[in-house]
Amino acid sequence: MQRYLFDFHKKTIQERMQILQLLYPQMNGSYNEGMDLKTADLMIENCIGKMSLPVGLGLNFLINSKEYIVPMSTEEPSIVAAASAAAKFIKEHGGFKASCTAPLMIGQIQILDIDCIEFNQSLQEKKLSLIKQANTLYCQRMVARGGGVTDLNFQSLSQTSGVVEIKVNVGEAMGANIVNTICEGLAGDLIKLFPCRIGLKILSNFCTERRVISEYKIPLDKLTYKNLSSQDISKGFIESYDFARQSVYRACTHNKGILNGMQAVGVATGQDTRAIEAAAHTWASRSGKYQPLNDYYIEDNYLIGRIELPMAVGTKGGALRTNPSYVSSAYILGHPSSSELAMIIASVGLACNFAAIRAMVSEGIQKGHMGLHAKNIAIAVGVPNEIVQEVVEYMKQRGNISQQTALDYLAAHHL
Ligand code: NDP
Repeated sequence: MQRYLFDFHKKTIQERMQILQLLYPQMNGSYNEGMDLKTADLMIENCIGKMSLPVGLGLNFLINSKEYIVPMSTEEPSIVAAASAAAKFIKEHGGFKASCTAPLMIGQIQILDIDCIEFNQSLQEKKLSLIKQANTLYCQRMVARGGGVTDLNFQSLSQTSGVVEIKVNVGEAMGANIVNTICEGLAGDLIKLFPCRIGLKILSNFCTERRVISEYKIPLDKLTYKNLSSQDISKGFIESYDFARQSVYRACTHNKGILNGMQAVGVATGQDTRAIEAAAHTWASRSGKYQPLNDYYIEDNYLIGRIELPMAVGTKGGALRTNPSYVSSAYILGHPSSSELAMIIASVGLACNFAAIRAMVSEGIQKGHMGLHAKNIAIAVGVPNEIVQEVVEYMKQRGNISQQTALDYLAAHHL
């Protein structure tokens, strides 16, 4: 496989698509056809069409000693290139080691007009029978496949109100709908058993029990990059990490860079990317101060990059079967389980952050980014597709990648 992917970015899109067809014979061009209009109309209200985004392949990912080719969909030009370059470097040093906790989601039922102490005592007495009832009535099929409600507890929020939190093992699903169904079912049971008023009954996207971890380690003396010594680079990593810990303005952008990669894989694989993002930001704020999602530290002469965060992704249910592109992405990834997919997504996020920090502590982010963004700039001022590359080369030679330079080229060539 590797020989087909060598210099993949230098090939034409037709050559890449031929390679893809060779590697994945059942693809049938599904990325380009996408879903049909009728399906789109069935998916959302007031549907008027479909939108498209480029899909690229994140290459060189080695996670738990397994090679992955990762479909990524995004409008931002440098993300796939950055992820692939960082993954290549990390692979040379053993790749990512990743793990995941059980797929436990949390549902919440808001309880009002109670004496919290009395409510909690009564709930604890009936807890086991409520769990059994929920598993029998609201999620039998999930129980049959080894999942279902595993726990139920009460937390007071004031003297007279609180929340019943339900833990549900959702198997391969993202789990929002199944958890909401259980919450609504159980709320009906609670009101019959306890004198109370029920407020909201809904899942929490802050799925703290469903966490993914990924990390890599690079020997300090192998960090040399672009005329900078290993020492300079490792120092830069630690200082930039400290900067993100100290300044929420920096932490926001630091985490955005991680989410660049995570969201691109989420979009390509049909995930609820809003849920991924909401959980990530809430996790980043858990200490009371918004912090970077990943850690950098030095241990035994290695630079270690590590991320741990809650993440709800699914490989069954949701909209996964409605868009053939999602089916193709699962095929390219080798039909991963939901836990495996979370590990891939976290690793891609970590790779993107590595690429960004390494660029910023060396040549700066703009050189690579603007080189790739130059094509967008040319297209934005109306450069015909067939001469975009020519205009990009001109802007690079002039050392000025801007709309004005692209327009100058068009004017000079009477285009
Ligand atoms: P579904 O409602 O599609 O539920 C997944 C279903 O897949 C399960 O209920 C189960 O059905 C079936 N299934 C088949 N095989 C498996 C397996 N091995 N493991 C688990 N389930 C399996 O999706 P989700 O409940 O995952 O909800 C995700 C969707 O909900 C997303 O589209 C999201 O956008 C949306 N959503 C998100 C919200 C949020 O706040 N994030 C809120 C509301 C909706 P069965 O048990 O019957 O066989």
